[in-house]
Amino acid sequence: MTKLLVSDEEMLLHAAAARELVAHTLLHLPHESCGVLLGTTTAGSIRIEQFQPIRNVAPDPLHAFMFHPEEWVKFCLQPERLVGIVHSHPHSQPIPSQDDLTKLSGYGQLLDAYLICSPNQSGNSIIIHSYRIIHPTSHSKAEITDRYRLLRTQLTVT
Ligand SMILES: [Zn+2]
Repeated sequence: MTKLLVSDEEMLLHAAAARELVAHTLLHLPHESCGVLLGTTTAGSIRIEQFQPIRNVAPDPLHAFMFHPEEWVKFCLQPERLVGIVHSHPHSQPIPSQDDLTKLSGYGQLLDAYLICSPNQSGNSIIIHSYRIIHPTSHSKAEITDRYRLLRTQLTVT
C-alpha cells in the first residue's frame, strides 16, 4: 500500500485537454493508455494546456504501460513545455502503484505533474487523480532520500 500525502497546490487542466484525455483513455480500454502533458509550472500552480497521446508498447498492455521510445524522446528533447505524464489504470483505482513510483527515477527530473485515469464504476466515464511530483532534491536535510514521491493535488478543469 502506497502512503499518500496531500498538497494544497493548484493544478489546472484545460477543458479541451481533459476531453481528449478522457476520450483517449476510454478508447483504449481495457488496455492501459499513456501520454504527455504540456503546459507551464509556476511557484504555486501547474497549468496543463495540452494532452499528447503516446503509444503504449508494454508487452502486457492490460497491466502496464511503456512509452513508445521515439515518440517519448521527441518530447524529452523539447522539455520547455513538458510538465508531466499521464497513464490509465483500467482495472484499479487511480492511485500510484509501487511500479509507477519506481519508474519515476527514470524520468521524474523532467516532470512536475502526474495524472492517473481510471474508469468509474459503470465504465462510461473517467476519474482523474492528479499528483505533484516531489523531486528528491526538494526534501529537507532531515529526510534526505533518493526516491521520488507523489503528492495528491486538487485538479480543476478550466
Ligand atoms: Zn500505474
